[in-house]
Amino acid sequence: MPILETTIAGSLPKPAWLAKPLSLWAPWQLPDDRLDEGKRDATLAALKAQEAAGIDIVTDGEQSRQHFVHGFLVKVDGVDFEHKKRIGIRADRYEADCPTVIGPVRRRASVHREEARFARAHTTRKLKFTLPGPMTIVDTLADEHYRDRVKLAFAFAEALNEEARELEAAGVDVIQFDEPAFNVYMDHVRDWGIEALHRAAQGLTCKTAVHICYGYGIKANADWKLTLGSEWRQYELTFPHLARSRIDQISLECARSRVPISLIGLLEGKDVLAGAIDVASEIVETPEEVAATIREALKHVKPERLFPCTNCGMVPLPREVAYGKLKALAAGAALVRRELGR
Ligand code: ZN
Repeated sequence: MPILETTIAGSLPKPAWLAKPLSLWAPWQLPDDRLDEGKRDATLAALKAQEAAGIDIVTDGEQSRQHFVHGFLVKVDGVDFEHKKRIGIRADRYEADCPTVIGPVRRRASVHREEARFARAHTTRKLKFTLPGPMTIVDTLADEHYRDRVKLAFAFAEALNEEARELEAAGVDVIQFDEPAFNVYMDHVRDWGIEALHRAAQGLTCKTAVHICYGYGIKANADWKLTLGSEWRQYELTFPHLARSRIDQISLECARSRVPISLIGLLEGKDVLAGAIDVASEIVETPEEVAATIREALKHVKPERLFPCTNCGMVPLPREVAYGKLKALAAGAALVRRELGR
């Protein structure tokens, strides 16, 4: 059985010819008639960069979507992208221009199936595909139709499930739902967030994962982190519920963070994707730094169940920094594997 298989949270920076660098919601740089081809070329580059670095479970680097939430919504009926509304998201941590729900939510067509097929055809490694989780979708939208976050979340969960089944059929090995909102609305996670995830993952036989982080390395998040005190214990409230859930893998932030790494111990029986790469800094970790985080995590989880990962997506980072971090991640895991004689 392999140990310490490396993976990433999901996104990688896009090439400058495809999208404006160093930004979230980066506008595309190609005209419509060349955009699909550009996305595919960028996906190839992202896959090969991960392979060359030595990452075991690769993703498409989210090269074909503008944003990790809104990328899924572009093919969902009932979501109006024409009239974006500036709203506070993540409990008003920052403002974003968000589309509005104006009618029943229904997936009009497959969103990512062709992207998944393309990625599957171009790598022999295990392939992970990311989707936004229901609670995080609801938190990144204005709603003028349902006016009920739980009902809206379950409507999206149904659409996500249709999508996830297609991704699985396309040969994806892991489907990960991104739920940064799980670190904001911890009571809702317990009350309905995990049930909504279960609905989204219903019937899947591939591995399922949920990624819960403290956000991209942007200023609003850095400022928020300063208010969280000397120990960040948000996970403590949700991990016991997740340990009892039907989701296979939990992805969390560990590197250079104030999360007590012992909270991993609350995830008994789960695969743990431990963030060993800080995405809020352009300083590339040394393999030894990565190894130190892995060794700490190994005090609380078996090596077969530990997957060294990035804290979050790397889309807003300079490309060479992100690629350097990929290499450090794989090299750090290799160091510890050697120590364990595997
Ligand atoms: Zn994240």
